[in-house]
Amino acid sequence: MRYADVILPVPFETFTYAVPPQMEEHVGEGFRVLVELGKTKHYVGVVLRVHTTPPQGVSLVKPVLEVLDDERSVTPQQLRFWQWIAAYYLSPLGDVYKAAMPGSMKKETKLAKRQRQTKNGKIQSSYAATGLSQFSPAQQQAYDEILSSWRETDVTLLHGVTSSGKTEIYIHLIREMLAQGRQVLYLLPEIALTTQITERLHRVFGDAMMVYHSKFTDRQREEVYRNLLSTSKAFLILGVRSSVFLPFNNLGLVIVDEEHETSYKQQEPAPRYHARSAAIMLARQHGAKVLLGTATPSMETLHLARQGRYGYVRLTQRFADMQLPDIEVVDIARLKFQKRMKGAFSQRLIDEIAAALERGEQVILFQNRRGFSSFVQCRQCGWVPRCEHCDVSLTYHKRTHALSCHYCGATYVLPERCPQCGEVLKMVGTGTERIEEQVQKFFPEARIARMDLDTATTRSTYEQIIGDFAAGQTDILIGTQMVTKGLDFDRVSVVGILDADTMLNQPDFRAYERTFHVLMQVAGRAGRKGRRGKVILQTRSADSPVVQHVVENDFDAMYAEQMEERTIFHYPPQNRLIYIYLRHRDADLLNHVAEDYAAALRKHFSDQLLGPDRPPVSRISSFHIRKMILKVPLTASVTQVRQCLLAVQQQMMQRPLCTNLNIYYDVDPM
Ligand code: ADP
Ligand code: ZN
Ligand code: ZN
Repeated sequence: MRYADVILPVPFETFTYAVPPQMEEHVGEGFRVLVELGKTKHYVGVVLRVHTTPPQGVSLVKPVLEVLDDERSVTPQQLRFWQWIAAYYLSPLGDVYKAAMPGSMKKETKLAKRQRQTKNGKIQSSYAATGLSQFSPAQQQAYDEILSSWRETDVTLLHGVTSSGKTEIYIHLIREMLAQGRQVLYLLPEIALTTQITERLHRVFGDAMMVYHSKFTDRQREEVYRNLLSTSKAFLILGVRSSVFLPFNNLGLVIVDEEHETSYKQQEPAPRYHARSAAIMLARQHGAKVLLGTATPSMETLHLARQGRYGYVRLTQRFADMQLPDIEVVDIARLKFQKRMKGAFSQRLIDEIAAALERGEQVILFQNRRGFSSFVQCRQCGWVPRCEHCDVSLTYHKRTHALSCHYCGATYVLPERCPQCGEVLKMVGTGTERIEEQVQKFFPEARIARMDLDTATTRSTYEQIIGDFAAGQTDILIGTQMVTKGLDFDRVSVVGILDADTMLNQPDFRAYERTFHVLMQVAGRAGRKGRRGKVILQTRSADSPVVQHVVENDFDAMYAEQMEERTIFHYPPQNRLIYIYLRHRDADLLNHVAEDYAAALRKHFSDQLLGPDRPPVSRISSFHIRKMILKVPLTASVTQVRQCLLAVQQQMMQRPLCTNLNIYYDVDPM
């Protein structure tokens, strides 16, 4: 008798099914099969292996109901990649399968099978290499350095200031790789994958390029997936995080653009993988090279580059002698005290905006918070409306005249007066909506647009806002972090950062690093050919080292300072972090279990384990959350750490109290 270990889209490893004799010929590793789980549920699973060992302790092994493929849908290399993700990120194989394949391939019916057509031969590997530019000397040198670094290491960091011509270098490298008949994966963060970059690459690579976006329909994604499965031709995939799961056959190069972007880390649901680490692993499997590109490298990547484990290539000048912007700090603590602020604006910023508009140039205003105010508060007793399901205060949105929870999305009516004492409520803090209102007041003639999660709700509204701005139909663009991503405008001469402090004051060891990245990226939007751009940075922390490092564009000083701090407190990149989360509806029970859980873990990890603690938001959608932090040295064996964690989990889950306890891990959290 043959048995198949099958991966199903449920949070477990594999399930074993019997292979009926008539199917033996037709089923193998990577084939999709239809099976039954429990009494009524049918699933499409993927065969991990076929063997002859009967499962132990099971009286009746269910049969495979149907083999859905004539050829395998998942390659052996992909399966090994899934197993690596599952093991490293402490996530069940079933969850990896869910993330890895287009939805339509996981719920195939017989009907769909008959209707399915593979569109072979769609990929063209010839293209007219138009739109290629001549390198500047600096670019040529960087290009040569990248190639020679790859003789020593497989991964190289290209650290080039904004607009230094990195993308142009990628284009040349891609062309070279395609000419050698190899495949290329170009990864971009979700939000940076805009029409701008797609069109730029399409001009050069035409039909040898395919785009893989999470906003595509299941069918579109399946089409890309199947196209790749059936070919080892050379082509370029321009894709987001999840494109690391595509069935590459002949991968030669992976480019991770904006490698510092925290959105490369999947937060929810499992697997909580980092696309940069996954891409490096994928490349290793294929014997491919990796180029990590950014203007602001992550501490992790820079650390490895400094140690010589990655190649390190720098571009310090903008292309065509464009100057980096002039950054002017405005101390709003002092202005507030002197009552000289106009809403959220200093006179300096208003003057610069007015001058830019006068010259027919554009302005970007950055405020890292959406909504109208950050929260609402009673003038008298200090009452603050909070979400019923989450442990957070609510944000007021003027357009809808409602309070909304930015964690679970619940909305509430804004009370007329304080329900506790009847006093009037005041709006505290400033969001993008309020900024927009103030700008309209100061500049009634200007054409203003706002870009945040409330206005750019879909891909098309997002592209519309960017398109209008790029075409010069908008004068002032107000936005959250969205405005910092992958945009290349040459009419922007002034950038205003309204308040750098909210980012800086976040309770997270990466707050400085992140603030530095965001400020540098926003500032990088300013500047046009022929004239130096201006950045007005409003802050209450004018003396903070990070603000000084931004002004001086001093990456190395920021890195040195942060490295010192991280080392003292055993944070990455010197140490590895694993967060262990426990979730339950009952707070008392959870508190109790969490203490026991931590005690069990301390037997293995002693003082490397911190907690249990309440995370900053300790209740989301009615689930209470407790968090433990494990700090392990980089030298510790990952396999051993994982075994200990899973052993403790198994031991705890046997306790009756833990029946409805939910445990999950976040490895290398961001
Ligand atoms: P980065 O990716 O570092 O932000 P880009 O590659 O987008 O930089 O280059 C910045 C600008 O300079 C773009 O408008 C690009 O078209 C232009 N540019 C870069 N390299 C060249 C080149 N070799 N010849 C002509 N224009 C170039
Ligand atoms: Zn009150
Ligand atoms: Zn909520």
